[in-house]
Amino acid sequence: MSERPRYSVLYNYIDTHVDEFIEGLKELLAKPSISTQGIGLRETAEYLKNVMERIGIKTTIVETSGAPVVFGEITVDTSRPTILVYGHYDVQPPEPLEDWLSPPFQPTVRNDRIYARGAGDNKGQLYAQLMGMKSILATKFPLGVNVKFIFEGEEENGSPHLEEFITTNKERLKADFVYTSDGPLHESGRPVVQLGVRGILYLEFTAKGASRDLHSGNWGGLIVNPALRLIDLITTMREPFSGKMLIEGFYDNIRKPTEEEKKILESIPLDREGVAKDLGLDPSQIPSSIEFYTKLMFQPTFNICGFISGYTGKGMKTIIPSTATLKMDMRLVVDQDPDDIFKKVQQHVKKYAPDVQVKKLGQMRPSRTPVENKFVKTVYSAVEQATGLTPLIYPSLGGSLPDYVFTGILGIPSIMVPYANIDESNHAPNENLAIPLFIRGVKCFSTLLATLSQE
Ligand SMILES: [Zn+2]
Repeated sequence: MSERPRYSVLYNYIDTHVDEFIEGLKELLAKPSISTQGIGLRETAEYLKNVMERIGIKTTIVETSGAPVVFGEITVDTSRPTILVYGHYDVQPPEPLEDWLSPPFQPTVRNDRIYARGAGDNKGQLYAQLMGMKSILATKFPLGVNVKFIFEGEEENGSPHLEEFITTNKERLKADFVYTSDGPLHESGRPVVQLGVRGILYLEFTAKGASRDLHSGNWGGLIVNPALRLIDLITTMREPFSGKMLIEGFYDNIRKPTEEEKKILESIPLDREGVAKDLGLDPSQIPSSIEFYTKLMFQPTFNICGFISGYTGKGMKTIIPSTATLKMDMRLVVDQDPDDIFKKVQQHVKKYAPDVQVKKLGQMRPSRTPVENKFVKTVYSAVEQATGLTPLIYPSLGGSLPDYVFTGILGIPSIMVPYANIDESNHAPNENLAIPLFIRGVKCFSTLLATLSQE
């Protein structure tokens, strides 16, 4: 088992088919598929289905209430493990067009990079998985793992129908773990194995005073100021200066990092000087590495995104504003439940300021796959083998993705391994994918399939 002699055959095949892989990716990138504008989604899904069928993947287009999902599968033996690959074929709008050096839907190679909308996010990365699959089949590697693919067309629009799709296709999606490649490598160029995300709860608080702005002298001290009302409320929710949350039960369900997770946090490098310089701060304002990653991955936040009230123009205007609105996001960590936290916020507001309205504008659940899971070790060693580099493990991202649909609804581990360069400029003009990293992605996925086949 330790010899793995066929890897050289596999890598040789990949290295001699680079041009073909690039040409194929360029064709896929030339199809606009802009989810937020509803452009080209079905055409791209159909195109992808054809690509997958040519590789030998049994593929169907599955309808949802939104854009179709492309579902593919290769079943070798139901007693063997099954990997479920997730990706998205939709892209962000390309605007502003004048900033592109070559047109966004005319893929162009410059400096060993492919430039096009979707090159990194996410067509290039999902295509790397497909070419990895193709390489395994073409070299007749004895495949010992079942493979399923789901490529959705609404990720850039917030995946509004992914939960519905997962819930209604549970049986069809049965697998041992989910594998996703999206986003960039670590800035050092080291590969990353990501195991979770923070959730989010987005709220809007509104306080109302008189039916119009009032003279602050004639009415001062007599009428409630809605801006102060909101500030008073906030200080009952969060202890000033310490930042400790005072909402009853807010910390109840937070899962603490395990010993192994703590060890991993210590191993993630942090360039404090570099971060401070980039943000225009003093290095003393950046927490030490362990505190930085503990806060980012294992602790919730309470953040004011915006506060609208009163007069903000030039000079003085003495008024008591008639309304105040505050927008807030809380990043939540496992096992905080956004529905539960929202209820606790509502109860808190009812107790301290029942006249203030609270509206929920959005939410997503947090998700985490334990680092101790056996497939994490398999993925880690496959990535190490394919890249020749020691991967970093991130127990969680600071941001939010709908990862809970896999860990929560399907109840299986979810592991993310990004392939793109750090400067992929996704969502921006001149989006690009470094060709060596694209090919490394092909090797990563085929090595993962090979590793799983031999376990
Ligand atoms: Zn994106």
